[in-house]
Amino acid sequence: SNPEQDFVLKTIKSRDVHFVRFWFTDVLGSMKSFAVIPSELEDAFADGMGFDGSCIEGFCRTEESDMLAFPDASTFQVLPWRPESNAVARMFCNIRTPDGKPFEGDPRHVLARVVGKAQDMGYVFNVGPEVEFYYFKDAEGTELLDRGGYFDLTSLDYASDLRRDTVLTLEKMGIPVEYSHHENGPSQHEIDLRFTDALSMADAVMTYKLVVKEIAMKHGVYASFMPKPLSDAPGSGMHVHMSLFDFDGSNVFFDPDDPQGYHLSATAKGFLAGILKYAPEFALITNPCVNSYKRLLAGGEAPIYLSWARANRSTLVRVPGYRPNREMACRLELRSPDPSANPYLTFAVMLAAGLAGIEEGLEPPAPIEDRDLFTQTRQELLRQGFRTLPESLGQAVELFRGSKLMRETLGDHICDYLVEAKQAEWDEYQSNVSTWELDRYLAVL
Ligand code: GLN
Ligand code: MG
Ligand code: MG
Ligand code: MG
Repeated sequence: SNPEQDFVLKTIKSRDVHFVRFWFTDVLGSMKSFAVIPSELEDAFADGMGFDGSCIEGFCRTEESDMLAFPDASTFQVLPWRPESNAVARMFCNIRTPDGKPFEGDPRHVLARVVGKAQDMGYVFNVGPEVEFYYFKDAEGTELLDRGGYFDLTSLDYASDLRRDTVLTLEKMGIPVEYSHHENGPSQHEIDLRFTDALSMADAVMTYKLVVKEIAMKHGVYASFMPKPLSDAPGSGMHVHMSLFDFDGSNVFFDPDDPQGYHLSATAKGFLAGILKYAPEFALITNPCVNSYKRLLAGGEAPIYLSWARANRSTLVRVPGYRPNREMACRLELRSPDPSANPYLTFAVMLAAGLAGIEEGLEPPAPIEDRDLFTQTRQELLRQGFRTLPESLGQAVELFRGSKLMRETLGDHICDYLVEAKQAEWDEYQSNVSTWELDRYLAVL
């Protein structure tokens, strides 16, 4: 028998677990779940648990809707915000079809496949996301909890209790938190997870988003990961720090003798060049909503120009330079993703783009250290030859649709679904008459 599965079965007895939630993620990044009683678990480990996939966004149509969820015992955790007796636990699942094949529409499987490719090349992909969000008084309005700003410690910072409770809950679930602080916007906050391998991290991000919302609800408020909830305040990003390690735990991105002085190896620069080349094609994954592009176009430290640098936060990729000589700290930070993205697909396309950069032998353009791109006009920058990310969901769909790398990485099932669903979302948005238009035109025209 399998030791991880035995551990789960023992823990269920010792911690009085009465419900085991099976968690998995749909193509759009929403968590799905059903509960199983402990006596079913041994069978579930062996043969999976059946469910109807036709109701899940991006899974399948009714003619072929039978799916099986196989729980991954290594992801077992008791949910700390639920009661201690008759407790509730969770496991993430891998989805298979009735003939036993991994299901093509399962985002966790897509990431596992790209991670496997990196492994064949001798690499472990490590990521560390910084996830930002806003607290609101309720789910309907945009009334804020506080008026604080970046790193503010206010005496009536009600939200710092919320953050504390959230961080402690994450840690009880085996998810270490590195930083947490107030962000620039009023009532905007950030919690940064300590880096780990991409698959564990994608699970952790799904857990994180749920925990932030659960703890907010417990305190009678509401948390949102919408990329740009307020017109006149910064949006919420999900910067992702990334590096490749070898199997001995050495950081392959690190080279103390880098002639450019960035402490980046040729491998890191190939990876960086791949990210810059493919970022417009994968924007549909990293920035999947109509609203995502309002964050990107608003400036405010959200990047749109395909560029990189060490200190410059107006660039798409940054090489954090806090401790340049520390091998473990050597990494690249991609600043375009936002927290509405599906973390499995996000890490999968970032890794695929980076590996493609290495394989294609690409080199990055010159870094942009000396100027803030936000202060230059769009015309000037375009004249200087800067390329940009797509500026709307519609453009993102176009670029994604034409991308060979995305089709190879995500497979036909997910690509076809996303093109259809996201085009429909864009069409619906474009035909909607907004309150802005009514305010601006109705009375004067
Ligand atoms: N909120 C900004 C964004 O949307 C980031 C601000 C920061 O972390 N420096 O990406
Ligand atoms: Mg940060
Ligand atoms: Mg931040
Ligand atoms: Mg950052």
